[in-house]
Amino acid sequence: MILLRGGTVVTMDARRSVLRADVLVEQDRIARIGKSLRAPRGARVVDCAGKAILPGLVQAHVHLCQVLFRNHADGLALLDWLSQRIWPYEAAHDARSLSFSVRLGIAELLLGGTTAVLDMATVRHTEAALEAAAASGIRYTGGKCLMDAADCALREDTGAALAEAERLGRKWHGRGLLRWALCPRFALGCTEELLRRVRELSEREGWLVHTHASEIAEETALVRARTGLDNVAWFEQLGLCGPRTVLAHCVHVTPAEIAILARTGTSAVHCPGANLKLASGVAPLPEMLAAGANVALGADGAPCNNTLDAFHEMRLAATLHLPRAGPRAVPASEVLAMATIRGARALGLEDQIGSIEPGKKADLAVVDLGGPHCQPAGPDLHATLVYCARATDVTDVLVDGKQVVRARKLLTLDAPKLAAAAPAEARRLLARVSVRG
Ligand SMILES: [Zn+2]
Repeated sequence: MILLRGGTVVTMDARRSVLRADVLVEQDRIARIGKSLRAPRGARVVDCAGKAILPGLVQAHVHLCQVLFRNHADGLALLDWLSQRIWPYEAAHDARSLSFSVRLGIAELLLGGTTAVLDMATVRHTEAALEAAAASGIRYTGGKCLMDAADCALREDTGAALAEAERLGRKWHGRGLLRWALCPRFALGCTEELLRRVRELSEREGWLVHTHASEIAEETALVRARTGLDNVAWFEQLGLCGPRTVLAHCVHVTPAEIAILARTGTSAVHCPGANLKLASGVAPLPEMLAAGANVALGADGAPCNNTLDAFHEMRLAATLHLPRAGPRAVPASEVLAMATIRGARALGLEDQIGSIEPGKKADLAVVDLGGPHCQPAGPDLHATLVYCARATDVTDVLVDGKQVVRARKLLTLDAPKLAAAAPAEARRLLARVSVRG
């Protein structure tokens, strides 16, 4: 049992209540929220005085396989970034480098308060990624990337790619904190047959479908030339839109496509850091929110951001749209919802995580608001968290009731050792890229 004592609880419940209260965690669940709770015998007490207790942050679009390429793919737009850097780098992964990349990424995520991710893995060595994720203690949903049409070394035969996805999903879905997702890369990297069979497999097994959509104008133009439809509209025609589908980016979407997202319950994932750095554009976030679409938040890949810091992403989402849409267009509480309960909804876990309520899973992040950059904290704690707080303010993190970060130290992985070893691991991988020419 763990008692988080004396903090301010930012519940993110339906009323967005903020309470001065203690939180008692029993096993994997939030057992009680209340004032001056007595610590049961044997309970560990975490002192949260001067701190905020948040639902663990959810990032609904990341690529842990790419973390090892951080700072090695700058200054490129999406299609060159993919074909000249990311795809050759992903193809150069072996099980060891992939496992390392995943652990390095998860170390950054957990230390910064992100407790759940939706991850698009690479095409090969998927089990190395899943084993690393399972050992790290993060709540992981993800799957092997499916590409049967892209002109690159990662391309697979349609049937073989789907057979492996099905085999791995059957083996790993529901194991501990792991859940499987079907991850076609994007419309341009996949045949229509693959996308149709992904829909069938998702319907049969209940697995999420996670892909990229309408990230850049060139991509949407190519999809339109090929299919006669806009990207999201085409996905709808294929039967792919629905509450089990999560579309990263949705930067270049039309009002009609925003209406499709809202009507079908398809989640969009806003990735402002990556959209800026790849010069992709600015998503119509205020319009998506106004239409009632579910929008989550994600850092995307380390080599297109170049950080996996959810606080950085929240601040961007909360400020980027204001020059166009006005100073009240994207309230801080809405952005915090995107990073918590809306992210949970995207993952199909809204009844389990994303808010601090009795009975829910104990995925929690404790944030120290005592730093000079947060003070004086104003009356709106949502705003202080979104505009001022940083990933390094996170002191304690619980996932599924287990403490994974204590007093800013990661307990499940050796973060300093991973960081120190990263340059040599990256060099080894890059050497394999040049050998392949
Ligand atoms: Zn991505």
